[in-house]
Amino acid sequence: MKRFLFPLLCVTAFFVNAADYYFTPAQQSALVDKLNSGTLKPGDNIIMRDGTYNNLGTITINDRGTATDTIKIRAEHPGKVIISGETELKISGSYIELSGLLFNKANAKDLCIIELQGEEGKYGSNCRITNCVMDDCNHPLRSEKAVKGVKPITVSEYWIALHGKNNRVDHCYFANKRVGGLVVQVWLPDSDAVNNHLIDHNLFGFRQPYGGNGAETIRIGNSWSSQSESRTTVEDNVFLHCDGENEIISVKSGYNTVRGNLFFESRGGLVCRHGHNNILQSNTFIGQNLPGTAGIRLINQGHTVYDNYCARLGDFGLLVRMGVFEKPTPDTDLEKEPLTSYHRAENINIANNSFIDCKVIDLGSGYGDKAPRNVRMANNYFCNSGNNIRITKPETVMPGLNFIDNRYYWDDRSPMQITGFIPLDRREDTFSAERQLVLKAVQEAGAQWYTPSNDNLKYITDKYNIK
Ligand code: CA
Repeated sequence: MKRFLFPLLCVTAFFVNAADYYFTPAQQSALVDKLNSGTLKPGDNIIMRDGTYNNLGTITINDRGTATDTIKIRAEHPGKVIISGETELKISGSYIELSGLLFNKANAKDLCIIELQGEEGKYGSNCRITNCVMDDCNHPLRSEKAVKGVKPITVSEYWIALHGKNNRVDHCYFANKRVGGLVVQVWLPDSDAVNNHLIDHNLFGFRQPYGGNGAETIRIGNSWSSQSESRTTVEDNVFLHCDGENEIISVKSGYNTVRGNLFFESRGGLVCRHGHNNILQSNTFIGQNLPGTAGIRLINQGHTVYDNYCARLGDFGLLVRMGVFEKPTPDTDLEKEPLTSYHRAENINIANNSFIDCKVIDLGSGYGDKAPRNVRMANNYFCNSGNNIRITKPETVMPGLNFIDNRYYWDDRSPMQITGFIPLDRREDTFSAERQLVLKAVQEAGAQWYTPSNDNLKYITDKYNIK
């Protein structure tokens, strides 16, 4: 019996030590000192009283909570704590949670506003950013120089940089990013360790077209780390009028899962740009025929793409690109075959997806001579005014494609000349299914205390008469 007593006493001791620390905006410097002090204990709460905290500067939180006793830094009343001005929140501890904070007109001191890294290489893990809002956080000297019709100056500012492992960003609202750079960037560690992050139930709202590359909303990895596994999950998020650039989510690593997300009237697509063995599942893309709205673009190997729903997209519903090089091996000379290039699309399963009135289903376009290989397309549904499946250089591309039991209906009743397609007598009725997909996606996304977040969701639900 005695040996059980000791751990019990330890647990009790944590509760005795844990404390609530309150700070008002007038006590901002004491708040910063406390967060930087390294004295926070498991179960401690830093509670910020209502008001505006301006120019918090650099804060490094290096404390360690536990799975049962996280260290919470939170607004006393969600949405009533505004963080603005120069803000660099660096978290290198573990089990630290931020919640209820409204970042408005905050900007990064250096590259990132919130970074799960302290000193170089010292990462935060098992941390959570939840129920927060980042709205119109743009470095004034970087963003306001962008002039309509003129390519903005090529600068970056990242809102959230995820390093480490097992971190979560959920139920947040992000909007009005004008500077280049990512809303959420996942950095892969230098070693083979995986990230295992979770990005879920967020609402990514308005982002104007940036006018160039480097304005993705979520990027998982970088080309230099693209052959490693991140194992990050991006699920049940909503993207509304979230333009930025033509890649809304850019996957640049392996073994990630992107599922259950809704892309609504957003000019860009979900792109497996680099890396292998990613799963894209049950995502919904509604474009309302706006130019630039897109579905899924695939490069590289081993992806599984199933149960996605793409409707009324002004650009491709599906794009399987030509490769320039083969998949890199340990012997590949990366000087000659850089990781920034395009590797052959191979061993990909594309099944049970719907492509309804998309501008094009594009198979084999792009420069390079490594045609898609062993790409199986089974049980997909295609419908459009006419045949919109475009196979570039069919003599090269067709041998790498395997079509099995796909269904199609073209309004002009033109027949398909390739096998593996079953003609239908009429369009399938997909509207109620679409409505259900939208309803499910909007149910829990965003930060409910923030009016623009709710207004965004209402914009979507109004289109489906969802109350
Ligand atoms: Ca890009």
